[in-house]
Amino acid sequence: MALTQSKKLGLTGKILIGMAAGIIFGLLLRNLFPGSTFVEEYITEGLFNVIGSIFISSLQMLVVPLVFISLVCGTCSLSDPSKLGRLGGKTILFYLFTTAIALSMAILVALLIHPGNASLASEQIEFSAKEAPGLAEVLINLVPRNPIQAMTEGNMLQIIIFAVIFGFAISHIGERGKRVAALFSDLNEVIMRVVTLVMSLAPYGIFALMAKLALTLGVETFGSVLKYFLVVLGVLLIHAFVVYPSLLKVFSGLNPFTFVRKMRDVQLFAFSTASSNATLPVTIETAEHRLGVDNKVASFTLPLGATINMDGTAIMQGVATVFIAQVFGIDLTITDYAMVVVTATLASIGTAGVPGVGLIMLAMVLNQVGLPVEGIALIMGVDRLLDMVRTAVNVTGDSVATVVIAKSEGAFDETTFNDTQAGKTAGSFTEQVNAELKS
Ligand code: ASP
Repeated sequence: MALTQSKKLGLTGKILIGMAAGIIFGLLLRNLFPGSTFVEEYITEGLFNVIGSIFISSLQMLVVPLVFISLVCGTCSLSDPSKLGRLGGKTILFYLFTTAIALSMAILVALLIHPGNASLASEQIEFSAKEAPGLAEVLINLVPRNPIQAMTEGNMLQIIIFAVIFGFAISHIGERGKRVAALFSDLNEVIMRVVTLVMSLAPYGIFALMAKLALTLGVETFGSVLKYFLVVLGVLLIHAFVVYPSLLKVFSGLNPFTFVRKMRDVQLFAFSTASSNATLPVTIETAEHRLGVDNKVASFTLPLGATINMDGTAIMQGVATVFIAQVFGIDLTITDYAMVVVTATLASIGTAGVPGVGLIMLAMVLNQVGLPVEGIALIMGVDRLLDMVRTAVNVTGDSVATVVIAKSEGAFDETTFNDTQAGKTAGSFTEQVNAELKS
């Protein structure tokens, strides 16, 4: 009985159990052995760190080959260059549009709720900002001098550019190109299979990540900035569960509840890893197999989104700017707020899809409107949890855009979208493979 039940439990269920068990286990250890060096050395930094890091590395291991292979496949089938240009233009416009909504809402809510308390400014704060790259440098660096180096460094934009050119060339050399395209299509299947394998290990990896988090998170830092924390969290949740579903309904007419339900695994992966990049294999898998997006759209929009579309990060940056201005008693003008929208959009574009970078890029926004960069030190303590939630929002935004654009390009399978069981990964990896071999 118990066995049949566990077999029926889908991946989401297992991940949720792993998550809850990890938090409970971590909290138990924390309270049973407070300050124990054994627990810290061998359990937190030992066992949990090793398992959690291996899980994240195994996701990251897939990102570069997956993006390259999948995008070459995608562009092979887009032989018309004008189609590619239109797809790129639409995607970037949609990404900018959602980021602008996110930022305006963040700034408005922060102004209304007024989370910043001037007494915080007297706290001991120290923070030194890193220099943000200039626009010219960003543009020059779009084209890889060495594609292999771009891959070893995981430079997503450079990999995207190279893969698009490569795939485009394949589609223009006739018969020989068809052979290469077939090879890439097979490779794509292989890499997708590895994605499923890694996904089936997620409950254990996520257990370790959550247990480590419960053992290390400093709860005492919350007090003074609780209001800031709650404002960011509130806006993130509204954006994920009200704005995105409404945009989906308006632009594609699809059922937003189906979308929200199917996004759960992706959001859980993003939440646990705090990295849009590491989540990318799961985002692509879900878009193609569960949401019904054609590979030629998903392979382009999702890696691009994981790199430049960070609505959750923009929300944090918008609220943080208003908060820091309030704490330091600095009045910002309407022009300043317009400046915040522009620079925070650029800062979120420049934020890499890895943990914690959004906070570093905040320095760019603060500098632009003349706010003290040291203010960042105030909100650092609560950024870890917010990073996890905003990453889940970031990947949801990429997926909404992908569905909307795929639908508008006729590269969308509505039957898959509406089928609740489509692409569902139930059972272990071996069970899935056996089931497929039998069928
Ligand atoms: N962790 C975020 C992401 O990967 C980026 C950030 O805001 O720090 O999407």
